[in-house]
Amino acid sequence: MQSESALRLVWIYPDLLSTYGDQGNVLVLEHRARARGIPVETLHIRSADPVPETGDIYLIGGGEDRPQILGAERLRRDGGLQRAINRGAAMLAVCAGYQLMGTVFGGEEGQPVPGVGLLDVSSGRGRARAVGELAAEVDPALGLPTLTGFENHMGVTRLGPGVRPLSRTLVGTGNGDGTEGCYAGRIVGTYLHGPALARNPAVADLLLRWAVGDLAPIDDTWYEHLRGERLAAVLPR
Ligand code: GLN
Repeated sequence: MQSESALRLVWIYPDLLSTYGDQGNVLVLEHRARARGIPVETLHIRSADPVPETGDIYLIGGGEDRPQILGAERLRRDGGLQRAINRGAAMLAVCAGYQLMGTVFGGEEGQPVPGVGLLDVSSGRGRARAVGELAAEVDPALGLPTLTGFENHMGVTRLGPGVRPLSRTLVGTGNGDGTEGCYAGRIVGTYLHGPALARNPAVADLLLRWAVGDLAPIDDTWYEHLRGERLAAVLPR
């Protein structure tokens, strides 16, 4: 049973798309909400289950090509995520999950596979695998600090006019055109693992603000240690 007052997180398809530690993003959101006294309920929705429409923040992670194709097919058929986003839910989509939120992405042989179509992006296969640390400056309109994370993907992503780049890459590949990730409405798409929200708590708070409004400050000492270490490892001094 879902309680009326709790913040509802929905972790989509852990059985297909949870290869790169992206479930950590769920844990970070849970922690940052509870630290502010906001009760949280998390639903783990396996790929055989319908996606509920009543969530506040949806999360989907990265994965290999086959599970990504299967995940896209099931989400398209199910329709619950599309209805949730249309009624204003927020979402974080990572790597394979980011690509499949677009109109089309590249399958194992580079064949075009239809996505869910909630982001105006299209992805195909790049010439080389992008793997390693990434740092990027976030769109100033969002007012967030430098992104840090780890990427591991073959895909390259073209952004359409319906989305804005999340950031400009300083180190790493991201979308493949000097930008990394995108956002539109209350959806953030990114190539970053790490998990992304453990390294970028400001993005976690952006999602939480979209879902619940203003947030009290909390102690970010440990996050800042991690961020400082990872950014110092890749950015020139
Ligand atoms: N299979 C996709 C690609 O290689 C996504 C990989 C991932 O989620 N890390 O581009």
